[in-house]
Amino acid sequence: MPVHPLVNHRAHDYRALVREWQALAKEAGLKMEVFARVGELPVYVLRTRDAAKDTRPTIYLSAGIHGDEPAAPWGLLAWARENVARFKEDRYLIFPVMNPHGLILNTRHDQDGTDLNRSFNATEHPLISAWHRVVAGRQIAMGICLHEDYDGQGNYLYELNPQSPVVGNKILKDCSRVLPIDQRKRIDGRAAKGGLIVRRVLPEMPGQPEAIVLHLMGAPLTLTFESPSEFSLHDRIEAQKTFIQSALEHGLRRGG
Ligand SMILES: [Zn+2]
Repeated sequence: MPVHPLVNHRAHDYRALVREWQALAKEAGLKMEVFARVGELPVYVLRTRDAAKDTRPTIYLSAGIHGDEPAAPWGLLAWARENVARFKEDRYLIFPVMNPHGLILNTRHDQDGTDLNRSFNATEHPLISAWHRVVAGRQIAMGICLHEDYDGQGNYLYELNPQSPVVGNKILKDCSRVLPIDQRKRIDGRAAKGGLIVRRVLPEMPGQPEAIVLHLMGAPLTLTFESPSEFSLHDRIEAQKTFIQSALEHGLRRGG
């Protein structure tokens, strides 16, 4: 009997993921650096090589803030592998796994029990302060934050977009080729329609998520995607990949 390709999938193998990114960075001409350390583990950032004159807005991508959401980092890698040429065309900043301890231990929180996605304004946190140093001074074209939800009944999306027409419906439609849209009317305590939670104004939150901090830094659009983590890993990775593809297609074309 043939073995299913995911039988040996190392969803929580951080080092394997890092090796894959190192090989890809070489092929794609991306610069991969350690920007922080948590315990003995390095945390990486990748960027398109910055010619000193390149001041174009940056496309921002991150995954693995919550370690129990493995399709996000693997989906980001799968997307990057298929889109190597894009890294020569546009300017990118990629955080492939923000919380390596969480990924290894299959937990939401980091090694100190902190939910990093409620800490992006906590500049006293060593990882977050290192992140701020990397991101500071950049103009962000779009922020893409990749997550999963074990309560999810399908894909859903937070769109923080104060100025332009909503793009999330088109993106969720593209992703529904892979996994259904979560049709709940309330998701995580917020009103949702067709899997979309639109934020025109900022919610009151003492500990700020990544998307809100990117917004406060001037990103005109931030999208936080959630795939349902009880569904098949293969499909979730496909959904994450499709999401990034579609977000770039619809999110960067606004107003054009
Ligand atoms: Zn998450």
